[in-house]
Amino acid sequence: MNKENFSDLPVSGNDPANIKLLKAALDSSISGIIITDNTQFDNPIIYCNKAFEKLSGYTRDKVIGRNCRFLQGTERDQQAREDIRKAVNEGHSITVELRNYRKNGELFWNELFISPISIHDGKVSHFIGVQNDITRRKNAEENLAYEREQVELKIQERTKELKENKEYLDSIVQTIRQGLLVLDPQYKVISANDFFLKTFKVEKRETIGRSLYDLGNGQWNIEQLRILLEQILPSNNPVLDFEVDHEFPHIGRKLMLLNAHRVELEGSFKDRILLAIEDITEIRASENRKDDFLSVSSHELKTPLTTIKGYNQTILKLLPADVNPKIALMVNKSGKQIDRLQNIITSLLEMSRIQSGKLVLDADKIDLNQLIPEILEDMSEVDQKHRLHFESQLTKTIAGDESQISQVVQNLLTNAAKYSPDAKDIKIALSEVSNFAKVSVTDFGVGISLEDQKMIFDRFFRVSTIQKHFPGMGIGLYISAQIIKQHGGTLWVDSEPGRGATFSFTLPLTEKGDHHE
Ligand code: ADP
Repeated sequence: MNKENFSDLPVSGNDPANIKLLKAALDSSISGIIITDNTQFDNPIIYCNKAFEKLSGYTRDKVIGRNCRFLQGTERDQQAREDIRKAVNEGHSITVELRNYRKNGELFWNELFISPISIHDGKVSHFIGVQNDITRRKNAEENLAYEREQVELKIQERTKELKENKEYLDSIVQTIRQGLLVLDPQYKVISANDFFLKTFKVEKRETIGRSLYDLGNGQWNIEQLRILLEQILPSNNPVLDFEVDHEFPHIGRKLMLLNAHRVELEGSFKDRILLAIEDITEIRASENRKDDFLSVSSHELKTPLTTIKGYNQTILKLLPADVNPKIALMVNKSGKQIDRLQNIITSLLEMSRIQSGKLVLDADKIDLNQLIPEILEDMSEVDQKHRLHFESQLTKTIAGDESQISQVVQNLLTNAAKYSPDAKDIKIALSEVSNFAKVSVTDFGVGISLEDQKMIFDRFFRVSTIQKHFPGMGIGLYISAQIIKQHGGTLWVDSEPGRGATFSFTLPLTEKGDHHE
């Protein structure tokens, strides 16, 4: 507790000059100062300096005689008050921060230092309160705390999001019906999904951390696969549809389809390889069964049909000259339907042969300038709707299987006619491009979208929008593309929906010596 004497003042005793000096000192303080008299009822304010008037907005006459609590407005239950009471009871000074209100009702934060004073008998007779407006600091602190809270909230949200994302991705990876491995640049397994472990009946501990090539009984240690995998990181070339036919431990002989890609991420996921493994043993077996069925059934159909065709031709020959013309027409028509059936069966057989790699090609010397007009002549008998325009700048021959090449041209012409029912013209052009002969068949019919163009050379693919309107099996282009491929050429299409299509193929020209004169 302070016991004041004024001995350290520049003037002595109770000199009025002394008092004046002290008052001037108090008034020039930038802190608000009040003195309360604890010996009077309700501890009233008996003094306040100028800075307090400025701070509170109250003039001296409105303050003197009141207890300080009026500064708190209606906020009387602040924790700081409790702290003040305690300090006062214990007789020591305290600094607190209070929410106070100016006369105009404006809130300000008051940093209040209260010091008890004893003038006479050791009892607290007065309190001196020194006050500073710390609203700005408090606001800055509050803003900072608010910002911090917001950042904290955002971090929490992001963490939650990331966790959810990870769980979401994990659940996809775990649900996928394909074995997935992530490899590091040294082909060591970093992670394996459940499906991989289940498929190969292996434990995580015998998979993670081990080199891909050491897994199982070295089942993935295949020279060709190694070469492909080693190219992924430097060249970014994925491994696509690589088949591994192998006797695997625990699960026996299986056919696995492998696809591997570089994970396109930087940072800690850089240079990782994602390897997807699919067991296609069953799918392939079922495809083979279907192919076998097609092949056997076409063979079975072919024999009786040949006999029927023979009878049909004999009947045609034996028909008397004066036969009812209706009967002659019917026999003729059934002959045509038999030919159609025979063509379908031949296509099916051809397809099975291609599938099983049994298509045998002759290597005749072919003059397309002669062959194609012949095909066009047959064609114009069947299709009288279209005008066929032939032009050729080809001067050389090619080597190949004449009946197969004829079949390709026939397929393209039949399609051109079939898929351009409202057009009049079909153009056939022969030319030489580098060391290839090029054959193009152009129609002005329904055309093909870019998306469908990618698939029309697949087996059984038919464009869905036109399927219903045109009969067909979706194997003609597949056979044609395979035949041309086996001859060392390429078959492709240029088309736009509604604007017709040009199917072109190339075939290597024979040596200069075979020059056609
Ligand atoms: P098919 O004609 O028996 O259906 P293809 O293998 O010959 O079988 O042709 C596959 C598909 O390609 C056809 O179903 C058709 O949708 C489309 N296509 C083929 N040729 C043409 C063409 N000239 N114009 C438009 N679409 C065609």
